[in-house]
Amino acid sequence: MVEIQTLAPASIFGQIAEHEHEQVVFCHDKDTGLRAIIGIHNTVLGPALGGTRMWHYASDAEALKDVLRLSRGMTYKAAISGLNLGGGKAVIIGDAKTLKNEALLRKFGRFVQNLNGKYITAEDVNMTTKDMEYIRMETKHVAGLPESMGGSGDPSPVTAYGTYMGMKAAAKKAFGSDSLAGKRIAVQGVGHVGTYLLEHLSKEGAKIILTDYYEDRAIEAAAKFKAVAVGLEEIYDQNVDIYSPCALGATINDDTLDRLKCRVIAGCANNQLQDENVHGPALVERGIIYAPDFLINAGGLINVYSEVIGGSRQSALTQTEKIYDFTTQVLEKAEQEGTHPQAAAIRQAEERIAAIGKVKSTY
Ligand code: NAD
Repeated sequence: MVEIQTLAPASIFGQIAEHEHEQVVFCHDKDTGLRAIIGIHNTVLGPALGGTRMWHYASDAEALKDVLRLSRGMTYKAAISGLNLGGGKAVIIGDAKTLKNEALLRKFGRFVQNLNGKYITAEDVNMTTKDMEYIRMETKHVAGLPESMGGSGDPSPVTAYGTYMGMKAAAKKAFGSDSLAGKRIAVQGVGHVGTYLLEHLSKEGAKIILTDYYEDRAIEAAAKFKAVAVGLEEIYDQNVDIYSPCALGATINDDTLDRLKCRVIAGCANNQLQDENVHGPALVERGIIYAPDFLINAGGLINVYSEVIGGSRQSALTQTEKIYDFTTQVLEKAEQEGTHPQAAAIRQAEERIAAIGKVKSTY
């Protein structure tokens, strides 16, 4: 009889086992200074596709935690969006402004190539389509390439469109109308996606309050979209209708929960709930409608998937528009089941993975 060993939660294998990741690859290269982790969560539906993030993590443990959380989110994102993709993600440890260069990116590309297509990479925070070009020099398992190279280009506008659709669906649930005209919206992070989202919000006549880690970006965006720029911490204390996290994850946590005065949370950031089992129900208790992050930020993945299967940007946008209906359905389902929206969305994704896993069990 095989003895099943219980792993300490803090151990590396304990963390990998917690959410049943299939494979985690640690990449190291002395010459380029590359330190990266590739997390492959689940490949039942297809190859694990997910972007590469470059970030100056405070510790290796923090980087591992991030890649595990992000890759799991990709599994759910693909599954709930009806895509034939598994979930994966990669992180490169270090400051993108000083460490990112062609050699480092190409070395990373070789590690991706070694996985033989089990993992397909793309853009994420601090990565550009140009960076994908460098990675493409070493592996064909990369998506999100520039349109000039036959790729689907920057996924951010499509992600922003899906986030906007999800936000409108959540607004309809909270306010009885999906119009964002006159709604006070706090946007945290005005990078690639955040800026495209601002275009939609400003066109619709929302009153925008924003912030960014880079003050110059915040000031520039505020001037362009007639918005009010506030400090990094101040964003949580704004008297707004909607809070839109568009920077990094875990911003809904024990410290911020009581400060949020909004009725809706809808943003593009991945893993917005620090602990979904704690903060998901806590939002319901406070009467705040949470649009599940992996559901409403799936536009970028849908766009990249269209590149993998040879679709067009228009077909990706058409599919992304359905995020409005999917969000409405998940919010209804959560209410009917007496659970929180993130749990309802995860359950829906897991049901599809289980069903398709059975389809695939015979040749
Ligand atoms: P980006 O790097 O272009 O933008 C992120 C912005 O957030 C930057 O301007 C950064 O300065 C700012 N920021 C970082 N920490 C902050 C903080 N504490 N407070 C305020 N601002 C802060 O990245 P992006 O591509 O726009 O992605 C934004 C988020 O959306 C990420 O969580 C990413 O994983 C997620 N996402 C992106 C896509 C996509 O298509 N790009 C798809 C799905 C999900």
